[in-house]
Amino acid sequence: MRKLWWILIVVLALNLGAAAAQDVVGTPGADGIGDPFYPLLGGGGYDVQHYTLDVDVDMEAERIDATATLDITALQDLSAFNLDLYRLEVSSITINGEAATFERDARELNITLPTAIAEGDTFTAVIEYGGEPNPIREASLGGVGIGWNFERDFVYTASETNGSATWYPVNDHPADKATYTYIITVPAPYVVAANGVLQAMVTDGDQITYTWEMAQPMASYLATVNIDHFEVNAYEDNGVSIRNYFPASVADNATRVFATQDEMVAYFSEIFGEYPFDQYGAVLTRAEIGFALETQTMSLFGVYVADGSPQDAEEVIAHELAHQWFGDSVSPASWKDIWLNEGFATYASWLWFEHTEGPRAMEQIASNIMGYLSGDYFRQQGMTEAAISDELARIAAPGKPSENDLFNGGVYVRGAMTLHALRLTVGDEAFFEILQTYYDRFKYGNATTQDFVAVAEEISGQNLGELFDAWLYAPETPELPE
Ligand SMILES: [Zn+2]
Repeated sequence: MRKLWWILIVVLALNLGAAAAQDVVGTPGADGIGDPFYPLLGGGGYDVQHYTLDVDVDMEAERIDATATLDITALQDLSAFNLDLYRLEVSSITINGEAATFERDARELNITLPTAIAEGDTFTAVIEYGGEPNPIREASLGGVGIGWNFERDFVYTASETNGSATWYPVNDHPADKATYTYIITVPAPYVVAANGVLQAMVTDGDQITYTWEMAQPMASYLATVNIDHFEVNAYEDNGVSIRNYFPASVADNATRVFATQDEMVAYFSEIFGEYPFDQYGAVLTRAEIGFALETQTMSLFGVYVADGSPQDAEEVIAHELAHQWFGDSVSPASWKDIWLNEGFATYASWLWFEHTEGPRAMEQIASNIMGYLSGDYFRQQGMTEAAISDELARIAAPGKPSENDLFNGGVYVRGAMTLHALRLTVGDEAFFEILQTYYDRFKYGNATTQDFVAVAEEISGQNLGELFDAWLYAPETPELPE
């Protein structure tokens, strides 16, 4: 009797289990992840945990042939979901080994699951694809090629904001961070410089396969793969190992220009908190790009940075390094929060000058920037008041940049001055505790402007609503606090 009863329970449980599995009906995930500026970026209803990107690179034909394996968690009962993939040809998709059907629409890759997946369950999508990557060119980003760029005999990849879809299927938004493994095969003797730690380099005939592992979560726009005849410049003095990838033609000067990165890592670790990743370094591209990008653990610079003196390059090197804490480890929850990246990295580079040159350096920078933001700088140039107000109208309030001009100077310099105004209001001790607490609380995740304001109010014990409203949102730049 007891035994029968026990069997009955087991049978009931099995039936319930079977019924539950069949009962998952599922609905399609949302078209986008919900960014107010980019409604179709990414997709909803799922969370990618890990990307394994196995990419064969044909440098002659300028094409890639790849397999992307995505480990994904369903955030709802899911019947279909969409990834971003720009133009490349998809040949097959499987979900947990079963063939899946899919459709393409502009940069969307809509995948129907062969069997619905229950909320909270994980599944594996394997996507075979290939073709010639087409960098995205948008006026709002200055018309440069965003994404994977083949350039004559080298490759660079710079994807802020939406370019990762040019080379792999991705939930292309910083709100869905994931870890990565890259397995990149190139013709020998090319060198691959990518995010994370180089795990293996295997030569097979005239091909070399580089395996790079990015073990901490990363926003998709920070994914970078660079292929060139690099020389590796590695050193370790302050606990974090630095490995730089310099094109041979500029390696000597670049080695001098980038020699202080370890001191910067040590200083920023002291004032912000421990460096978030396993290694750091710079990769220089021979492409004529007028920007640098804080690609996680491997910041990307144009070779022009190596042309000048170490002093000329110090600001941009400190800026990209500081992003490893603010932007990369703590990522913006949406693109309208971009000042949390740019204002912070800009201010960090000023802090570096304050550290190396003394408090006068910070006073001088703050006074110059206030001259610019108040219009005095333009007055000294003899501009008319009408022209000056036009000029000032172009400087965004950092908390509400225009989606057509996301990287407006206001996001950088008025964003940085917002932090300076906070520092003058709460004092140095509270200010640095605010930065450390904010970093510690949101590292490896995402934050909003409101999250930062809340930390600042909590640590300082002050109501800072007026200060932040004036600095982040008012059209006119306020006066600096005394
Ligand atoms: Zn920046």
